[in-house]
Amino acid sequence: MSSTSRPVRACIGLGANLGDARRQVEAALRALATTPGVQVLARSSLYRTAPVDAGGPDYVNAAAVIETDLEAHTLLRALQDIEDGFGRERPYRNAPRTLDLDLLLYGDAQFSDPVLTVPHPRLHLRAFVLHPLAELAPDLHVPGLGALTGLLPAVSEQRIERLADTP
Ligand code: ATP
Ligand code: CA
Ligand code: CA
Repeated sequence: MSSTSRPVRACIGLGANLGDARRQVEAALRALATTPGVQVLARSSLYRTAPVDAGGPDYVNAAAVIETDLEAHTLLRALQDIEDGFGRERPYRNAPRTLDLDLLLYGDAQFSDPVLTVPHPRLHLRAFVLHPLAELAPDLHVPGLGALTGLLPAVSEQRIERLADTP
């Protein structure tokens, strides 16, 4: 369990590649904003990205910075409740999905247990996580990994395109 004092600033990664992915990510951001104990401080643009370690349609990804009174596991369950509300299914690992919400960072916390690892253990491998985060918090320091900007060169081969804002 994390003993980080609350409220905590946390980062959430959002992704979808089934159905109207763009709409689902936008709707998930609204659902996050109405979650008790969660305040959305900032959200990134939407990005179109190539699937990583998986086939299927391109993804739409985004990130959000929140402030939360929720303990990390409680926050994860709240994220999973939102996913369930969008009909998320898990037929196999890295399967296409209507919505995925990952807890990327929870303050400066660093821990791993059977249900939750923070920072998210694969965030440094993914352009679709690092670029939206860099848009929101260019000076971010990832516990255990260092400056966010220092992680970007390693994912420079991954296809990612910022989508124009819709009015
Ligand atoms: P990946 O974790 O590689 O992004 P995924 O998002 O497709 O894969 P899921 O099926 O959504 O994986 O989640 C599998 C499990 O990962 C969840 O049941 C959850 O307990 C666990 N998990 C561990 N750490 C985290 C985290 N930081 N954020 C979200 N889920 C996590
Ligand atoms: Ca994920
Ligand atoms: Ca997930």
